[in-house]
Amino acid sequence: RNMLRGTVQDITERKIAEETARKFAILESKSKEMEQFAYIASHDLREPLLTIKNYVELFSDEYKEKLDEESAEYLHRITRAAVRMDELMRGLLDYSRLSKIKELQKVDCNDVVNQVIADLNSLISNSHAKITVDHLPVLMAYPLEIKQLFQNLLTNAIKFRKQGVEPEIRISAQKLKGVWTFKIADNGIGIRPVDSEKIFGLFQRLHNRNEYPGSGIGLAYCKKIVELHHGSIWVESTPGAGSSFYFTIIT
Ligand code: ADP
Repeated sequence: RNMLRGTVQDITERKIAEETARKFAILESKSKEMEQFAYIASHDLREPLLTIKNYVELFSDEYKEKLDEESAEYLHRITRAAVRMDELMRGLLDYSRLSKIKELQKVDCNDVVNQVIADLNSLISNSHAKITVDHLPVLMAYPLEIKQLFQNLLTNAIKFRKQGVEPEIRISAQKLKGVWTFKIADNGIGIRPVDSEKIFGLFQRLHNRNEYPGSGIGLAYCKKIVELHHGSIWVESTPGAGSSFYFTIIT
């Protein structure tokens, strides 16, 4: 009887494993499809867009004298919209290319963060941001992607500062249950709990572009990078007091 029970259990386990594998395969093919779609959308649609941009430019140049102020302003707006759309598409194109990943390398996060701080030099000094970096680990990761991750999170921490308050940002890492958890804490405007998942979606923004510039791709990009490293990313925040972005790297 015991043997029979063993067999039944084996079959059940095998069925569950098969079902899981099947679901995984579907998910994987769906995500490939999505990526393909994002790639085509961003790559192929850029071309006609650039044609529009070029012709508007040509038109404005050639008919400069004949245009009244209002029509010139209309053309200017068309160009601005086309430039913006081009930016969004380039963002989407980068995003869709992200999963074509290379080899894991030894990455010293201290060096990466120092490099990012150097690259953001003018943003940092213009905003009088004070950035504290604790000792960070060396781990196996995708170096360019990790740099982009820190860069996006640090840029946001500075960008979403409170008016009249100098940004104070702390970057730290802690090993919790064998997993490195990174933290980027700011004293900015904060995020309401209801928005804390939404912001990681593609093109999701909480503000008008006139208030804070941006395209809403940054955090979706961060999420994808973290997931490539088998980790997760989340935010804890008190609106009006600041946000802490966390991510894990499991390689
Ligand atoms: P973008 O910065 O281009 O708007 P992101 O995807 O980087 O796009 O961020 C999405 C939204 O999340 C932002 O528009 C903003 O509303 C919110 N957000 C991101 N980082 C922070 C932060 N450090 N503090 C407050 N809000 C933030």
